Amino acid sequence: MAQNPHQNALKQLEDVAKKIKLDKEIFEILSKPQRIIMMQIPVKMDSGKMQMFEAYRVEHNNARGPYKGGIRYFPQVDLNEVKALAHWMSLKCAVTGIPMGGGKGGIIVDPHQLSAGELERLSRGYARAAADFLGPKKDVPAPDVYTNAQIMDWMVSEFKKTKEKELGRKLKASEYLPTLTGKSLRGGGSKGRDIATAQGSVFVLEEALKTLKIKKSTVAIQGFGNAGYVAAKILHDKGFKIVAVSDSRKAFYCEDGLDPDKVMKYKEKCGTVGLCDCKAGGSKTCKCSGGCNCQGCKYIPQSQILTLDVDILIPAALENQITGANAGKVKADIILELANGATTPEADAILRRKKIIAIPDILANAGGVTVSYFEWYQNMKNEKWSEDKVARKLSPLMKRSFREVYKLARQYKTDLRTGAGILAVKRLEEAIKKSR
Ligand code: GLU
Repeated sequence: MAQNPHQNALKQLEDVAKKIKLDKEIFEILSKPQRIIMMQIPVKMDSGKMQMFEAYRVEHNNARGPYKGGIRYFPQVDLNEVKALAHWMSLKCAVTGIPMGGGKGGIIVDPHQLSAGELERLSRGYARAAADFLGPKKDVPAPDVYTNAQIMDWMVSEFKKTKEKELGRKLKASEYLPTLTGKSLRGGGSKGRDIATAQGSVFVLEEALKTLKIKKSTVAIQGFGNAGYVAAKILHDKGFKIVAVSDSRKAFYCEDGLDPDKVMKYKEKCGTVGLCDCKAGGSKTCKCSGGCNCQGCKYIPQSQILTLDVDILIPAALENQITGANAGKVKADIILELANGATTPEADAILRRKKIIAIPDILANAGGVTVSYFEWYQNMKNEKWSEDKVARKLSPLMKRSFREVYKLARQYKTDLRTGAGILAVKRLEEAIKKSR
């Protein structure tokens, strides 16, 4: 039976509540989203026929600021998943202290099966259907799994059009641009947003290694999308040895480490991770013939990526990957959770026993939403920050968040996930009580 991510989120909340003897009313409030929006989006397909797509927006909590969180396009999207993801967004924003609440959206669709035109009509349809709920001070979506800057640009444009029609006047840029983040640079996005999730996680990892006074080097990464690939690249540039990467089709291992850029070139040409030739990865002679001619490199079963003998394991794909069934076999010392909900509560109990340090999603991947907040802020104030300024603001914020989480984990004699939960829930409690 597939795990219900919302049940997992509630179990984590219970762990926090027990530790801090959380007020029952606050627990009740946080255990349910404030609003669930369900939409049916009609899209005219290229064939001329109309197709309906089921879509959601879950608004979990806005006591600390506007609802904030991505929209994912994925065939297995379901309401419990979106509820969990919205819940984690409230906690995530509270962990880093940015003044945003939590929300999440999703459409049941495999975007790879749609033409560009169909994808645009679907995205515009979503923005139109949800327009009443969205806005810079109401609910601010962003990209997530299989959504990107182009989709955000379409949504902003549709939101603007819909609202202008309704209000009978032109909107100022500050009234529509900050309604969605993760936009293209031309469309009002922020420099550094595309690499923020990965960059933030590396800042956290560095602070963790420094605090724990340990040196680690080898890395395995599950997922080679925006988060996984960019994390691989940053870590590789910093001298970490990336020994394995995987995507939704294959897992690839190189004993002596691999160059993520060469793997990306192969993926762009061949549709999955691999290497053509160690020296000339992605060269014209590449045949995509099931691997490579590099010594020490080979394809491994996908499930093995999680149980390799590496120092650092980075799940950067979907939820429910490290579970009660495989956590016992995890050999990494540190798990850096780029994906939301990658580790289930059963797995957490096993990892704790094995003294494996899981740096939780709501801390590890919070760099994405943090730079989304920077984008929102720039749009509100009509500012444009340099990439350097974004990194200079992100780094201390992520590092401080790690130290705060670590301190609470020690104080309450618990793991980093519960420590992060305690930090977040206390901040949410304060905001909820103030807003009454
Ligand atoms: N989808 C990302 C996340 O899960 C980013 C959300 C945002 O930028 O609002 O954190």
